[in-house]
Amino acid sequence: MLNDPRSHGLWEKTAPQPPATAPLTASVQADVVVVGGGYTGISSALHLAEAGSKVVLLEAKEIGFGGAGRNVGLINAGMWVMPDDLPGVLGPVHGERLLDMLGNAPRLVMELIAKHDISCELETNGTLHCAVGSEGLKEIENRAAQWGKRGAPVTVLDAAETARRIGSDAYAGALLDMRAGTLQPLAYARGLARAAVQAGVSLHTASPVIATERQGGKWVVRTEQGTVTADWIIVATDAYSTGPWEQVRTEQVHLPYFNLATTPLGDNLRKSILPGREGVWDTKEILSSFRMDQAGRLVFGSVGALRNTGTAVHKGWAQRSLRKLFPQIGEVEFECEWYGKIGMTDNALPRFHKFADNVVGFSGYNGRGIAPGTVFGRTLAEHILGRISEAELPLPLTDPREPGFRALKEMWYEAGAQVAHFADARF
Ligand SMILES: Cc1cc2nc3c(=O)[nH]c(=O)nc-3n(C[C@H](O)[C@H](O)[C@H](O)COP(=O)(O)OP(=O)(O)OC[C@H]3O[C@@H](n4cnc5c(N)ncnc54)[C@H](O)[C@@H]3O)c2cc1C
Repeated sequence: MLNDPRSHGLWEKTAPQPPATAPLTASVQADVVVVGGGYTGISSALHLAEAGSKVVLLEAKEIGFGGAGRNVGLINAGMWVMPDDLPGVLGPVHGERLLDMLGNAPRLVMELIAKHDISCELETNGTLHCAVGSEGLKEIENRAAQWGKRGAPVTVLDAAETARRIGSDAYAGALLDMRAGTLQPLAYARGLARAAVQAGVSLHTASPVIATERQGGKWVVRTEQGTVTADWIIVATDAYSTGPWEQVRTEQVHLPYFNLATTPLGDNLRKSILPGREGVWDTKEILSSFRMDQAGRLVFGSVGALRNTGTAVHKGWAQRSLRKLFPQIGEVEFECEWYGKIGMTDNALPRFHKFADNVVGFSGYNGRGIAPGTVFGRTLAEHILGRISEAELPLPLTDPREPGFRALKEMWYEAGAQVAHFADARF
């Protein structure tokens, strides 16, 4: 995107075109102005417009420019925090409410895809959280038991069944989560945007919000060439936040994450590697993820930034790792490479912020924003429509707070991933 082949890689290559949009160049009125053209912003705009609100969505660059166009495409149910721990972290009311909402969030994604006929390579065969060694196995058994007692359709597969589904005997087992799946993330964002425009949203790209001010009980939101006067502002800028909501970005520690897509695998390899097309990640601290796209390209990712020395180190590691995981794969050729920044919070949970009266937003999905962003976008719409009070939201209201040593931690993540990948999978 914006002439950078390492920003959105394969997803930009294979996504259907976005709806036609233009920058905001006038002064307009709306009920709600939504800032940010990712899942959170587009979902909130779509649901508000469907309920009859007049909505203007302003995106700084292009639809899906942030995490929405760069991610792995795993439609996860839940967060990293163990289900039983959530009520302890958030309190029993918010904890159980969040678990319930996130557990059901993939279903909303799938329903929206069906309802709006979004072409985004949706696969509904579940995800496999693969256990590395006995510690990894304990972790997934624990997670499965905690979800299981809440009625979630999760199963622990043994090593043999995991090997059959993955095409590799590297794992001690896997947690199969049938609520989850995979999609083409940029195609999903663009499809949602098309649905929003059809529902009546005025969507402007290349329109970064640079300032806001209160005038006569309304908000005036400024871009370089226009203004929107509205009752409400939704801030849906997350890790790519610029302009007036710098706090959204500075309360997060950014974790770089890259993906490499092979050329389409041949028929025999496709029969042995992920024949069921589940989305996969493992229990390692520096985790790896992989999944197939519709054309049979294997998309392989891990922590790290594809810049400076990182590009060669991570690509070399990925080639070695793939050959080790899948000895049958032979020579590996990558067709696309890209990376982005994942916004991590100090307790690995998202945030609800009220920046001022009638200025609200969710952010901080810790690398799990497809389903949560979609459902939280709908929740923001319901809140503004008066259907959900602040007390009924899935997260408590918090103020953005910058974590200590943020910049240092970000440098450490990027450098640490290089050191680890330089050494890993050599023997
Ligand atoms: C490499 C990577 C892998 C990931 N893998 C997964 C995964 O497999 N599964 C999963 O569920 N999640 C994953 N995630 C996380 C997921 O992509 C994000 O959580 C999700 O995109 C957040 O959606 P959002 O709409 O809140 O924000 P974004 O999608 O980041 O959208 C925010 C938008 O706001 C715009 N913006 C910022 N400032 C302004 C401004 N001042 N004016 C106007 N617009 C502005 C940005 O340009 C951007 O387009 C991954 C993320 C990355 C980077």
